[in-house]
Amino acid sequence: MTGYLLMIEVDFEKYGLSHLAGKEIQNWDDSDIDKLIAAFVAENIAPAIPGISFTPQKIGYLLALSHCRRCGKCCLPNPNDPGHPEIIVSEEDLRRIAKHTRRSYTKLRRKARMNTDPTLPHMRHIPLPCMFYSKGDCQIYTVRPKVCSNYPIRPLSGEVGITVDVRCDYGVDIYKTILDYLRRGSEGWLFR
Ligand code: SF4
Ligand code: SF4
Repeated sequence: MTGYLLMIEVDFEKYGLSHLAGKEIQNWDDSDIDKLIAAFVAENIAPAIPGISFTPQKIGYLLALSHCRRCGKCCLPNPNDPGHPEIIVSEEDLRRIAKHTRRSYTKLRRKARMNTDPTLPHMRHIPLPCMFYSKGDCQIYTVRPKVCSNYPIRPLSGEVGITVDVRCDYGVDIYKTILDYLRRGSEGWLFR
């Protein structure tokens, strides 16, 4: 599983990582991992880690490994990923935000686009740049949508696993810690 999860869509040769092909992760050094993360960023890939289930306990544990720098990258369109300029919000998110900001829930709901994905019923989209991003910060940080409070971790589409956005230092910290667990062979309960 380890080889699969680290080789996703990255051309090792292109990024000077050919020596890692077929090499056990226990033998990777820190500079290899820095280069790999740089390659993910350059290719606009949020690396996938199959096997870690997206449960509140595990995600909460991983998020607590570091902290959000509130850099706003996840609140603005990603110039390298023009296909996903929005965040998903639930009705519960919208109600919480409306209450906190004393806005009309109905008006807020109208501003959030209808979702057309049948696999995500009862969800809406807020286009990016996010309407709540202002003065270089999230103005509703304590009541932000669930998808934002889970960021930079997202569920892996179509199978059990997660992706970690390594465009921000928060994601880099989390991803490196997971790799460290794998390198030491101490990933244990995370993958159960
Ligand atoms: S989750 Fe990452 S990208 Fe989003 S604001 Fe925090 S540090 Fe920045
Ligand atoms: S709700 Fe806040 S954290 Fe989420 S995208 Fe908008 S500004 Fe960013």
